Amino acid sequence: MSRVSIIGAGLAGSLLAIYLARRDIKVDVYEARGDMRLEKMSAGRSINLALSDRGIAALREVGMARHVLSEAVPMYGRKIHAPDGGTKLLSYSGREGEHINSVSRGGLNIALMNAAERQSGVTFHFNHRCTGFDSQTGEVRFADGKIITTDTVIATDGAGSPIRRSMFDGVVDRFNFSQIWLEHGYKELHIPAGSNAHRFAIEPHALHIWPRHKFMMIALPNFDGSFTCTLFLAHHGSAAEPGFDQLTDPTAVSDFFTREFPDAVPLMPTLADDFFANPTGDLGTVKCWPWHVGGKALLLGDSAHAVVPFYGQGMNCAFEDVRILDTLIDEYGVDWASIYPQYAAVRKPNTDAIAEMAEENFYEMRDATADPVFQSKRIIETRLENTFPDYFSKYSMVTFREDLPYSLAKQRGNVQDEILMEIAASTTDPNTVDLNEVRERLKAAQT
Ligand SMILES: Cc1cc2nc3c(=O)[nH]c(=O)nc-3n(C[C@H](O)[C@H](O)[C@H](O)COP(=O)(O)OP(=O)(O)OC[C@H]3O[C@@H](n4cnc5c(N)ncnc54)[C@H](O)[C@@H]3O)c2cc1C
Repeated sequence: MSRVSIIGAGLAGSLLAIYLARRDIKVDVYEARGDMRLEKMSAGRSINLALSDRGIAALREVGMARHVLSEAVPMYGRKIHAPDGGTKLLSYSGREGEHINSVSRGGLNIALMNAAERQSGVTFHFNHRCTGFDSQTGEVRFADGKIITTDTVIATDGAGSPIRRSMFDGVVDRFNFSQIWLEHGYKELHIPAGSNAHRFAIEPHALHIWPRHKFMMIALPNFDGSFTCTLFLAHHGSAAEPGFDQLTDPTAVSDFFTREFPDAVPLMPTLADDFFANPTGDLGTVKCWPWHVGGKALLLGDSAHAVVPFYGQGMNCAFEDVRILDTLIDEYGVDWASIYPQYAAVRKPNTDAIAEMAEENFYEMRDATADPVFQSKRIIETRLENTFPDYFSKYSMVTFREDLPYSLAKQRGNVQDEILMEIAASTTDPNTVDLNEVRERLKAAQT
């Protein structure tokens, strides 16, 4: 029986444990934190996440999709909130049944851990903080001095991965690593559930965006009727652009929100308390190479490729990592030395593509969603998707096409976007644009 040690019982690590156990592999999962099923965890990365088709496909393989979706809130489009309080819904797709889903991070992680533990051969070891890895001996070291040896280590220990640090610190010759911080940070805030008659205080089936050019706030619905809001704002403000460093007391926070998000403020009774109680998080993109040390260790999920959250794809991509790795186990059994290089070669162009699209989408969400030309373009795209079942916008290719690699979605999507923005800019009414003509232009550009 092969033995795999997974470092990190987060979203990717817990799902991976299920996949490996189904192949009769003995799995030990080492997690730095305590067991979140027993302890109240402090605020983590984000309270809820958008789960879409790539993530769902990976959950479906192990029979988890139905259960997870039963506690998700579907979101059919972006609801844009203008400074004057006006709103507009921009659909995610013109096709029936294409939507994203707001799920609880903690709830999903717990469901995955429970399912993993139900398999024989899976053991979780909580309060085990990994400190490094030795490729010669295959030893994994922990903060309490414990050392384990194992057939192979898969690091799902997140964006700050200590296994990756060991690779950087000499385990791997000429290890490439970059971490690009966004100058914006984020803070989570709260809109409580309404009364029974109006369980959700605002439209439940949408991802709400308050785009304000240099910054924005978003809100995703929770199953209990509340919303988790996230303010994305520069860490350091200036005369031209507000920043977290200017919001240092309740009056400054209240003035800022009343000026920028007047329709949201009455829905946020604990705004000032939440603002000062919740941490300000950092956002960044991690790229590195190689992802493996022979057949001894592999980086997977955020440890290999953390992305900024603006395409809602970090977890979906990490789940896709797990599904693709599993297809290679089909082919090569537990010959990790054959699997890891092939896995990495297949995934790297795709994770680079989603990293770049996620950064671009920040600008789309905070700037373009408020731009009338962009809004016209979305109307044309939705009409195209309504009319031509085989037409997919870039967003749809990334979000609803688990059969299409991210790199292809990016390449095809960029060609489409350029043409559609040009058409949108030159029309006064996107609802009367001749779709057959547009379709022909798009087809010609792709060949
Ligand atoms: C604000 C925000 C919003 C997001 N929204 C979305 C979204 O809507 N949709 C989406 O798909 N993605 C989203 N993401 C991205 C998503 O959170 C990550 O891509 C996903 O969590 C990656 O999973 P992972 O298992 O690789 O890493 P993590 O979920 O970070 O798990 C890593 C695990 O390793 C453990 N660990 C860390 N260090 C050690 C150590 N030394 N020893 C042992 N264990 C360790 C951690 O405690 C944790 O349990 C968002 C991210 C942020 C920051």
